[in-house]
Amino acid sequence: RSRERDLSRTLERSLPQWLVEFLREAGKIADSLGYRAYVVGGFVRDLLLGQKNLDVDLVIEGDGPIFARRLAETFSGRVSVHEKFKTAVITLPSGFKIDVATARWEYYAYPAALPTVELSSLKLDLFRRDFTINTLAIKLNPGEFGQLVDFFGGLRDLKDGVIRVLHSLSFVEDPTRIFRAVRFSARYGFRIGRHTLDLLKGALKLNLVDRLSGRRLLNELRHILSERDPLPAIRQMAELDLLRFIHPDLKLTEEGEGLIKETEASLSWYRLQFGEENLKIWMVYLLSLFDRLDQKRFATALARLEIPEKKIRTLLEERGRLFRALEHFKKTHSISKSAIYRSLEGLSSEMLLYGLAKARDQASKQAITLFLRELRKVRPAITGQDLKKLGIPEGPIYKKILETVRDARLDGLVQNKEEELQLVHKIFKEKEKANR
Ligand code: ATP
Repeated sequence: RSRERDLSRTLERSLPQWLVEFLREAGKIADSLGYRAYVVGGFVRDLLLGQKNLDVDLVIEGDGPIFARRLAETFSGRVSVHEKFKTAVITLPSGFKIDVATARWEYYAYPAALPTVELSSLKLDLFRRDFTINTLAIKLNPGEFGQLVDFFGGLRDLKDGVIRVLHSLSFVEDPTRIFRAVRFSARYGFRIGRHTLDLLKGALKLNLVDRLSGRRLLNELRHILSERDPLPAIRQMAELDLLRFIHPDLKLTEEGEGLIKETEASLSWYRLQFGEENLKIWMVYLLSLFDRLDQKRFATALARLEIPEKKIRTLLEERGRLFRALEHFKKTHSISKSAIYRSLEGLSSEMLLYGLAKARDQASKQAITLFLRELRKVRPAITGQDLKKLGIPEGPIYKKILETVRDARLDGLVQNKEEELQLVHKIFKEKEKANR
């Protein structure tokens, strides 16, 4: 029934030794409990494609949580269990995580589209998945360790480079699969199978995507924009006319493609400078994708994605400031560092990198890179404490003085604390004179 191939050598060759041992141990523990254990899904797909993927998803024919506790214990790991769904997450001392799910068919509603035949619980579990290439499993029990399980022709589709759904109602059942199909096809350069493409277009005609919550739509979009190179997937979304579900006026123009490429360049520059540090890469791409929307449409698109209202307001405000800054940089000859600082102060790294991609002229690009690299870290050496010691009465004046000192520092007018204090003295004297 299912085609079987021995992948134990592939596992040994492709995975770190400790992980192979971990998987073998998982098989032994399953055996001792009278269960069967499989590693399934994206892990197997990418193993066969020779691509790195260490997201280990285990499916157990038996009781997943009982198995997970035993396995965690063996490796001194922690386990958190979701008893209702019979799932668990094991965390090893190294921080490495393993997902465990239970394939016991009494836990699932019987899928309507399934012919009435006797099925193993694993097969039922895999039948609920999106595409054939994601339905491959590898047996872990001793004696059959490494054998491929392929119920739905996933191996063939992996070899042919085809994205194929498991049944005709797949996209109706879950329209997020439309975006997943685009993502996998773009990532691997696979084509969407003919019948699958017909089904996908059918689902689009029915506007099923409109029924997706903003949360789920955003989740898919975020995944797409987190791909190493999201442009092919964005192109394909445009070709399939998917962007209208985010906003009716969202289009991908040639200029828009150029901006996506510039975004990639600005992100590479940033990574080289700072590493990945907390950057929401998908957000930078989102801002670029939405570039041609005016502020009102931009806000509507974000609202469709159920971005919280407060966050939308922040993004609108920052975007407005960025646009004004870019205009200013373009027009102003040799702009001072303090002026750059005041234009860009408080903008998120994501907004700044979008601005860097969007900026056409060299002066604007330089201003933004200079701000990111140096200016945004600049602080005066003196603090409010120093002002207090000078006997300056506390009040809003403190902020003003410290800003003036910061600007002077940015523009090289003062270099150290001493000079800053002298400057404060001068400002304060002038203020007193003016007040008299
Ligand atoms: P990636 O490599 O991007 O992490 P993945 O397929 O490995 O992709 P997930 O998106 O986390 O990882 O999905 C894990 C598995 O769950 C997939 O292999 C897929 O079979 C299944 N799956 C995820 N989302 C759906 C869905 N909407 N419908 C059906 N199956 C899904």
